[in-house]
Amino acid sequence: MTALAAVPTEFGPVLSQVMARASDPEQWERLERQLRSAGYCRHPVRLRGETEAVDVKTGEVRTVFSTAREPDGALLKCCGNRREAVCPTCAEVYRGDAFQLVAAGLRGGKGVPESVCGHPMVFVTLTAPSFGAAHSRRLAENGEPRRCRPRRDGPVCPRGAAMGCGEVHHEDDPRLGEPLCPECFDYRHAVLWNALAPELWRLTRNQVPRELARLQGVTQARLLELVRVSYVKVAEYQAHGALHLHLVIRLDAAQPKGTAELVEPPPAKFTAELLGDAIRAAVEHVRAPVPQSDEERGKPQQQLQLEPVHVRPAAIRWGRQVDVRVLELGEAPSCAGYIAKYATKSTEAVGGLMYRLSASDLMNLRVRPHVRRLVECAWELAGEPELRPLRLRRWAHALGFRGHCFTKSRRYSTTFTSLREARHEHELRRAHGGEPFDPWGRPASQGACVERRQWASAGSGYRTLGDAWLAESGRERRRVAREELRADRRGRSGRRAKVATLGGSDEPEP
Ligand SMILES: [Zn+2]
Ligand SMILES: [Zn+2]
Ligand SMILES: [Zn+2]
Repeated sequence: MTALAAVPTEFGPVLSQVMARASDPEQWERLERQLRSAGYCRHPVRLRGETEAVDVKTGEVRTVFSTAREPDGALLKCCGNRREAVCPTCAEVYRGDAFQLVAAGLRGGKGVPESVCGHPMVFVTLTAPSFGAAHSRRLAENGEPRRCRPRRDGPVCPRGAAMGCGEVHHEDDPRLGEPLCPECFDYRHAVLWNALAPELWRLTRNQVPRELARLQGVTQARLLELVRVSYVKVAEYQAHGALHLHLVIRLDAAQPKGTAELVEPPPAKFTAELLGDAIRAAVEHVRAPVPQSDEERGKPQQQLQLEPVHVRPAAIRWGRQVDVRVLELGEAPSCAGYIAKYATKSTEAVGGLMYRLSASDLMNLRVRPHVRRLVECAWELAGEPELRPLRLRRWAHALGFRGHCFTKSRRYSTTFTSLREARHEHELRRAHGGEPFDPWGRPASQGACVERRQWASAGSGYRTLGDAWLAESGRERRRVAREELRADRRGRSGRRAKVATLGGSDEPEP
């Protein structure tokens, strides 16, 4: 390495920065270790500080780790962003965790018993109602793309725009998701729908046990003594800007407070079909009220008009496209892969506004016209006093949606935190070649000392283009290695039957 450091600087700043790093073998090795353990993150955080161990009996203090001897006196820590478009490597870790979390609730593992796969379980897709016709690309049963909106009679809207489209759109046709007539598209309703979708789901979730009680002819109180509804859900933006929700909903036996963490099968009369019926009934039933002004409350909602004037809806509800499918044994990997894939995305499908907007950003939005109108509509609606609680300006970049894309009920399976802790534990064991020891050489599990951490931020991102390049090449190396491993496995297992009924991806590599 030291010999390489003699390369002259004319090769550009990146190379000379890399060479400067390589000139000190010890620092080079430390940097490489840091990059690897930060997962070659794209925007790591730089930390300064130390971890000390204090002997609980004697009070003696010893240093476990200090950034004093690290390159630039700092430690690189991954950004942890879940979004693929922000940091591909951190998103990959998140996707893997989301996969494990969903899969554990379907087939057991991570503290969930394997018997869980026998519980009634359904895969549900909930959609928004239509806010106006838009260009789309739907697949026919044979997998071929269909014509967008073929109409023989050539209908036009009240403003004279054609309401048919006979084209077969290509996957990256910029018109996909654009309304056939922007004037007729109900932007206010679309933004309010996104903003209130989390509330609509909350009401639906509360309604499912009520419908189960009704179907079983028992009181709600009795039902809650019998079963518990667990779920995991992911929100996906459609090209026209409204959300879809994909969920796994499962029935467990109800548990008293003391044993709430137990996941046990519900009574036999609670079948997956019954759960499906209850969900469909709940979806049909619920409405999430839109905050109204006093004046609006007195007005009839549907006014007959010659021109379509969009009155603000009094409430939002689910669209008619509701899909409830009983999950079969063996579908866990494809289902978990499908949900985990969306967990690392957000508005990317609609042109990806990544960050909160300010008034000045509105002028220079580089998005499709339709997305711009949605953002502007959110901005405008935010000015209406009764809609203030929806904080539509803060969430204009998410087209009104202010929830988390990936959520789950408490008892569905494990948590991201425990998956992260388990990974950390595993890495420690690997670094120590087995059981980790404290600075006195005693097994850490004995608990003879406590750790004291003092960390402060030293900035974010890589200090030089050279470091950023090293991280990027590390990412690339890892990607190639994984692909080789995958190809190798595929070669060994031959043509393994693939469960891909949901179109989901396979299990991520560990
Ligand atoms: Zn990152
Ligand atoms: Zn079209
Ligand atoms: Zn129109």
